[in-house]
Amino acid sequence: MRRKLAAGNWKMNGVKASLAEVSALIAAHPNPKSEVLLCPPATLVAAMAEVAAGKIAVGGQDCHMKASGAHTGDIAAAMLRDCGASHVILGHSERRADHGETNAIVRAKAEAARAEGLVTVICVGETEAQRDAEETLEVVGKQLFDSTPDGATGANTVIAYEPVWAIGTGRTPTLAQIAEVHDFLRSELVARFGAEGAAVRLLYGGSVKPSNATEIFATSNVDGALVGGASLKAADFGAILSALDAA
Ligand code: PEP
Repeated sequence: MRRKLAAGNWKMNGVKASLAEVSALIAAHPNPKSEVLLCPPATLVAAMAEVAAGKIAVGGQDCHMKASGAHTGDIAAAMLRDCGASHVILGHSERRADHGETNAIVRAKAEAARAEGLVTVICVGETEAQRDAEETLEVVGKQLFDSTPDGATGANTVIAYEPVWAIGTGRTPTLAQIAEVHDFLRSELVARFGAEGAAVRLLYGGSVKPSNATEIFATSNVDGALVGGASLKAADFGAILSALDAA
């Protein structure tokens, strides 16, 4: 049985005052059925972990593949853990595009994160051109295989399917398209990791909002969502969480 997961990615948004949204979310949803994870900018991880007080999980949005050293501006997995993070998003399409992160880099980061006991939320997803060329399954299959280290389990790995063209655009794939990719990812995970592959949660991400959450959560092999814009406000993210709890 996979516990549903509502994950929020604040991206480069939020200052200390924004933590009021976290308090409001916890107050409105004191006992959610689903697991809740928020990934703020690195500057807020420690403060958010304090506000969250164990009621929701807090994660980073990236980490370095090395444990320490001369890497100005970067953050090691141990530093995230040290300030209260339990998870880290890796291989988000914005990191892949803006920072040239390859599958090999994502995999190395995932190994580093796992070594520190962080749950890795590994992102995969096709561009619009790749979907138009009918390369979606090939692309996400390769990203999944090459970005995920050996030894993935339901406890140490979450996979987020995020079509690049759906992120922050208000556009979403059809439910049949989401089901096709999630069913494919599930079969790939089971083929490689057996029973643990069946336990890895698969999140859909890309313009999830209160108005489309219920139908997305009813889709095959969707175990929750990775939410960008709609995770910034407690009311919106809380409505998505309620839809997930009801799914
Ligand atoms: C994301 O970037 O992970 C994301 C899903 O963004 P949005 O929900 O804003 O499309």
